[in-house]
Amino acid sequence: MIGKMDYMELDRLAQKIIKGQKLTDDDLRQLLSLTEEEDIQKLHYIAGKVRDHFFGNRVFLYSFVYFSTYCKNNCAFCYYNRCNDIQRYRLDMKEIHSICRALKNENIHMVDLTMGEDPYFHSEPQRFVEIVRTVKEETGLPIMISPGVMDDRTLSRLYESGADFLALYQETHDKELYAKLRVGQSFEERLHAREFAKKVGFFVEDGILTGVGNDIESTIKSLRGMQKNEPDMVRVMTFVPQEGTPLAQVDQESSLSELKIISILRLMFPDRLIPASLDLEGIDGMVHRLNAGANVVTSIIPSDSSLEGVVNYDRELEERDRDPKSVIERLKSIGMEPASQADFNKIIDNNSIRSSKAPVVML
Ligand code: SF4
Repeated sequence: MIGKMDYMELDRLAQKIIKGQKLTDDDLRQLLSLTEEEDIQKLHYIAGKVRDHFFGNRVFLYSFVYFSTYCKNNCAFCYYNRCNDIQRYRLDMKEIHSICRALKNENIHMVDLTMGEDPYFHSEPQRFVEIVRTVKEETGLPIMISPGVMDDRTLSRLYESGADFLALYQETHDKELYAKLRVGQSFEERLHAREFAKKVGFFVEDGILTGVGNDIESTIKSLRGMQKNEPDMVRVMTFVPQEGTPLAQVDQESSLSELKIISILRLMFPDRLIPASLDLEGIDGMVHRLNAGANVVTSIIPSDSSLEGVVNYDRELEERDRDPKSVIERLKSIGMEPASQADFNKIIDNNSIRSSKAPVVML
């Protein structure tokens, strides 16, 4: 087990992972059970080595545009669930055009267009297709969409209109927990949408929540569930209790579990995109997540933006430090740097993150 390994042995283990060694369920169990700071640092060390092998010190940056905070769903963990009595907004085309102009001058690799399952767009998907086409034409950047579950025909149209990535988080692959989190929503339809999107040509992202009633066995189910779908990008985020939601009174866990899972994701998905979200603990939290093995910074919002994040650690703060300039400065201070747009486009053009299968070997 890694607790007893010296750094030469950790290096050797990183090399084995790079060459295709897979983690068993027992390995996952042991890694998820780590509690000693020194052991967790060793886990991060291996994950960092693996990440550096595939991506060097170069990081991808995604800009986050939450263009509608309306939603017809009732997820127990989400601030924007339909039962929460909050102020909401939906951007119009004029506002989208103005965001596109701003995005052109930003140092980012992809635009993430996110909404709740807003009936305005879900009942007339053409409206969303128009937004995707406009943002693609005006920025020329790769586009990620996070619109919730959409039907096959709409997904095909969105892909044809210029969307490159579909982000659709299962949150958990433990069906019992899913029913408590994504209340009233079909587990299978969500799986199907990701599978179909992949067949059409999308790159897909899956994600899980931690600190929301998931024990080690439930987390292993989720990690294996994500693996089945062969996503191109995998994320984990710590559950943050949101005011006005059924889970508002649940105690928030520290980010320790998330950081461990980021490292484990890196060992399970060595050459995939793994985000460090700014949405949870801002720019300091970004550094911890990159040190755990992430290679993408998400939820970047221009400094003058009033748009929402999803978790919004900074909802109450006057100054938000999740603009591209602050992110890049901090990256440089830790010896990392933004990748070039050509690096990112290469991923999309060559499907280079879709790698071959490798044998299962014990740690
Ligand atoms: S997580 Fe998404 S689908 Fe669920 S309530 Fe929030 S915005 Fe709606």
